[in-house]
Amino acid sequence: MSPAGALILARYGEMWLKGKNRRDFERTLARNVRAALAGHPGLLVEREHGQLRVQVERRPEEALRRLGDVFGISSLSPARGVEPELGAIAEAARSAFAELMEAAPRDRRVRVRVEAKRSDKRFPFTSPELARRVAELILAPYVERVTVDLDDAEISIGVTVRDDRAYVFAERRTGAGGLPVGSLGHAVCLLSGGIDSPVAAYLSMKRGLAVAFLSFHSYPYLGESSKRKLERIVRALARYQPRNRLYFVPFTPIQVAIRDAAPTGYRTILYRRMMQRIAGRVAVLERAGAVVTGESLGQVASQTLENLTCIEAASELPVLRPLITFDKSETIALARRIGTLAISSEPEPDCCTVFQPARPVIRGSLKLCDAAESALDLEGLIDAAMAGIETVDLRAD
Ligand code: ATP
Ligand code: MG
Repeated sequence: MSPAGALILARYGEMWLKGKNRRDFERTLARNVRAALAGHPGLLVEREHGQLRVQVERRPEEALRRLGDVFGISSLSPARGVEPELGAIAEAARSAFAELMEAAPRDRRVRVRVEAKRSDKRFPFTSPELARRVAELILAPYVERVTVDLDDAEISIGVTVRDDRAYVFAERRTGAGGLPVGSLGHAVCLLSGGIDSPVAAYLSMKRGLAVAFLSFHSYPYLGESSKRKLERIVRALARYQPRNRLYFVPFTPIQVAIRDAAPTGYRTILYRRMMQRIAGRVAVLERAGAVVTGESLGQVASQTLENLTCIEAASELPVLRPLITFDKSETIALARRIGTLAISSEPEPDCCTVFQPARPVIRGSLKLCDAAESALDLEGLIDAAMAGIETVDLRAD
């Protein structure tokens, strides 16, 4: 680590990126990195070709952990920055290597390699030559203890030479992958207190969408505690994107109207259709181009193609269902990994359990949906719901 603090290389290298797309991608990624590390003293984020150079004064481990949640980063390395000349590079590599050898086994040979990449063609060695020279210099004192293994090394020293500096690193952590949040636009996610929709939101963020959350509530049937639960889910997801807005929509009047006017079996589908319409209104506020849900084909009896067709028909925006083909066990595993499972699993009723029919329709018909809704004042109900909307902006814990 340089005395001025710690340097971290955050690589992205999406090869398809060109021209303006590339600039937008890099700009968005740099902004998200700054947001993820907000509050780190001495933070410096600079763009270089194919990577960001991130500098912090203190707590590099925490910075690395936070960067591990930033989408668009393919790998991360704590690094030392040196002059781009062989002597300085070899010295940095030597001391990084010596440190690792201190902790390495002594009763057998350790598999090692040096990897080098030169992107500045003015540098006097080709990449393989550079790797060989550095390896010769740093391995010499350890000939008895090491064996070079290019495919399966336990210790791998990396060297990257850029225009005006070189980097040496001994570790390459896998990044979160995906695309920078916001680089592909905005979406509104219908967020219940269940396991699925937070995972759907996470996967949407991973593909570059900035997600606003929309949750429907049935006062007085459901209390404040179900709202607090939603807020905690959003705070857990706030590790993955810079801005986290949660909208609460009062849903009881709509549910009552549907209960009174529609066939019982259609209640759930008609609730979902109203949710889609309101999501369309919120999408305007959020400049969102899609609605995300946690629906999955066949997961509950009502999630059939026919019912999804009925629901989708009420939306003017594309409805994205990242979990559509997931098994529940896959969703649960992902929910655990992203930190939402424990919160989602707390028992708390969902608004749709209010007035829940004993037997929901399995093969909904769009004609019957339209017919049932013709008895409702849709615009009036939606306007009233929008007028009662509450907004909270949340941050990661
Ligand atoms: P989840 O685990 O996300 O609740 P689920 O498998 O239980 O999903 P449903 O309860 O049928 O399925 O809900 C399907 C989707 O509808 C949810 O994933 C969510 O996107 C949306 N949804 C359901 N209830 C609400 C709600 N109260 N507020 C906002 N969206 C909701
Ligand atoms: Mg649910």
